[in-house]
Amino acid sequence: MGAGETDSELIPWLRDARERSLSLIADLDDDQLLGPRLAIVNPLRWEIGHVGWFQERWVLCHAAAQPPLREDGDALYDSSTVPHDTRWDLPLPSRTETLEYLAEIARRVCARIERGVLTDEDRYFVRLAVFHEDMHGEAFLCARQTLGYRSPWWAERSAPTGEAGPLPGDVAIPGGLFLLGAEAGERFVFDNEKWAHKVPVRPFRIARAAVTQGEFAAFVDDGGYRRRALWSDAGWAWREGLGAEMPPYWRREGGEWQRRDFDRWVPLEPHRPVIHVSWYEAEAWCRFAGRRLPSEVEWEVAAAGESDGQGGLAAARRRFPWGEEPPGIARANLDSTARGCLDVAALPAGDSAFGCRQMIGNVWEWTADDFQPFPGFVVDPYQDYSAPWFGDHKVLRGGCFATRGRLLRNTWRNFYQPHRRDVWAGFRTCAS
Ligand code: FE
Repeated sequence: MGAGETDSELIPWLRDARERSLSLIADLDDDQLLGPRLAIVNPLRWEIGHVGWFQERWVLCHAAAQPPLREDGDALYDSSTVPHDTRWDLPLPSRTETLEYLAEIARRVCARIERGVLTDEDRYFVRLAVFHEDMHGEAFLCARQTLGYRSPWWAERSAPTGEAGPLPGDVAIPGGLFLLGAEAGERFVFDNEKWAHKVPVRPFRIARAAVTQGEFAAFVDDGGYRRRALWSDAGWAWREGLGAEMPPYWRREGGEWQRRDFDRWVPLEPHRPVIHVSWYEAEAWCRFAGRRLPSEVEWEVAAAGESDGQGGLAAARRRFPWGEEPPGIARANLDSTARGCLDVAALPAGDSAFGCRQMIGNVWEWTADDFQPFPGFVVDPYQDYSAPWFGDHKVLRGGCFATRGRLLRNTWRNFYQPHRRDVWAGFRTCAS
């Protein structure tokens, strides 16, 4: 790919990422923009400033050796050095000042791109800043759900209708040696995806779809949260500590289950994936159903693998479940084009070679595995992206309805601690 061709997408990406970020905070008042001190959210006025700071830090200060706009930028916004619980106490600039800071950085970055002097290293950092902003965009949306703010796009986005229904059953996947991780030649990869390495996989059976709200309700109705035998020691300790009796945004109203969708209570949508469950809840559901979570490599085989026609795995891998083309609305529920998850049987055009649906988009999927470096791991310049989190996080795959399509591919690894329930996470299971 020629330099001109790659540069032409950078400015639209930067503008689009920024437009999305701003649309996620535009309607919030000053109190909401600071919000309560919680371990799982940032004060949004801090977070929006951090997004601009990160762009400046890598694209302008690091790659282009420019001095920072604000002398106190690092002291305010460096997530590696500013402890989370102190971010509410910082002398944060006002909303207006913060937005001007962001706009000035964006102007300088775009001017640099327009001069046509970017090196490959510069391009890497521009993309890093876009993807970083994309990920914070998803976090802004999570914060709005956590805090019960209204959906930012309630009026504009269509409700995810299309009653596509359930998609029961498993597919059989052959064993073999599978190439796990990203291959050199990829335009942008995070350090945790490097590099592809062969991993042996035994034949397995995996569900065509994620576990639904209806299937999860059966577990709750059966007393699943009180049956000690269904929980691991760590899971039970987590459940007891929290007094969890159901998923976090559920309630029973007049004998019917409801779910809080931002600031509104809606009836449970039985064929949409269960969402906002911790890894421990996923694990307990599996024990209840006689199932198990897929390993990380099994997930990637189901999404990217193909049969060799002789009962084994082909050497070829797909970039996306459906093939090589970038995601579009007929194949994957991404980019907040709908205001939530679709039924699990929707979007058959996005099936993987083995017939698994919605492996990209709709809901993040917990896997069984701890987040660990691949063999030969070398940390990237942004050192705190992956390395600090190896060992005590679990891997999630696939992206959710709010994830930006430009971020994703089958090899993309997300990671959260197993107790987290605020992320847009559900799960798919394997036959035991
Ligand atoms: Fe960040």
